Amino acid sequence: MAEGGTHWVVRLNGRNRATFFLGVLAMLALHLRHQQVGALHWTLLVLQFAVYPGLIYWRAVRSADPLRTELQNLLLDGFLLGMWMAVWGMPLWISFMLVIAVCLNVVIYMGMPGLGKAWAALGGGIALVWLVAGIDFRPDTSLAVSLLCIGLLTLYLLFFANAAYHRGLSLRENRKVLGERLEQITELQARLQEQALHDPLTGLYNRRHMDTVLARELATCRDAGESLALVLLDIDHFKRVNDTWGHLAGDDMLCVLAGQLRDIVEGRAMACRFGGEEFMLMLPGAAATGALEVAERLRRRFEREPGLAEGQPMRATLSLGVAVAPDHGGSARELLLCADQALYQAKLLGRNRVVPAAAPVGEDAAASAEG
Ligand code: GH3
Ligand code: MG
Ligand code: MG
Repeated sequence: MAEGGTHWVVRLNGRNRATFFLGVLAMLALHLRHQQVGALHWTLLVLQFAVYPGLIYWRAVRSADPLRTELQNLLLDGFLLGMWMAVWGMPLWISFMLVIAVCLNVVIYMGMPGLGKAWAALGGGIALVWLVAGIDFRPDTSLAVSLLCIGLLTLYLLFFANAAYHRGLSLRENRKVLGERLEQITELQARLQEQALHDPLTGLYNRRHMDTVLARELATCRDAGESLALVLLDIDHFKRVNDTWGHLAGDDMLCVLAGQLRDIVEGRAMACRFGGEEFMLMLPGAAATGALEVAERLRRRFEREPGLAEGQPMRATLSLGVAVAPDHGGSARELLLCADQALYQAKLLGRNRVVPAAAPVGEDAAASAEG
């Protein structure tokens, strides 16, 4: 609103008032030239119509609340002009022009409730002169003065119409810019939201998002009487991978595994990077047999294709633990614990195998495909 430190209403009114009042002063010179008007009257007229606009503009600019002060200025205009109209004997054309100008100005900034205030200000000025000195009614004006009044009033209205037009233009421009900014912010927000859910290296969902989805899917499966399988997997001796082929090759291997996980998930199934070289696969609706098959297929594929380092195939294997709700627990925490224990068993049994949760160690070995 405030450009260059001054409220646009104060600037607009300051300019309009200064110009319009000078026009009125010129018109009064024509109107009062044949009347008995003394030097004091002329001095006061010059003060009112040439000096006063500058003074109250300065008052509004200096004020702590320029807009509020400017609205008070408009009412002060009304009061003083009301006094002058009474002093000149209420000349019809001049009074009409001044009343319209004051009312228009006040209504533009205060709405229709301002009209009552404008009338009160004008009426107050007229009444004061009436009470103190009485009014000598002289409603007539010469044709030249009447034409000048019409011309001044027309110019005043055009001034406002033009200001409103430019204001509308700049508002439309601002709205367009704001709309574009809002679009950018919405896009950025969506991107940030996406990033907050994903692991930056592999592009898989992160653990935080998996926690949310797992709780929801567990509830859905419980309500539907379905099972839900959880596969926890870890690259065997990944430290050696890094040590042998370098960290970048290790990163590539994580991405290769992420791609293989992505190939598995469909429908409500979901894969996430659990942390480091550990990943998790959630299979809603899957029973133990199906989940073990999926895990075994993944283990074989990764063993076959663990990725390349400088064009040469690397070597690595996976250990996997499988737990199924509701058999191994109804909550995400219980299920994760069981899957983790199964994974730990897979490591203990020599790695490169799939182990179902809470099965005797001997049976684990049997369940793992090539252990
Ligand atoms: P184990 O078979 O018992 O799982 O042995 P491991 O070497 O795979 O397990 P360990 O926990 O000792 O080491 C995991 C390594 O994974 C250590 C860490 O530097 C590496 N690692 C974790 N995150 C990343 C990653 O984003 N990129 C790479 N290149 N390495 C990672
Ligand atoms: Mg490991
Ligand atoms: Mg690990």
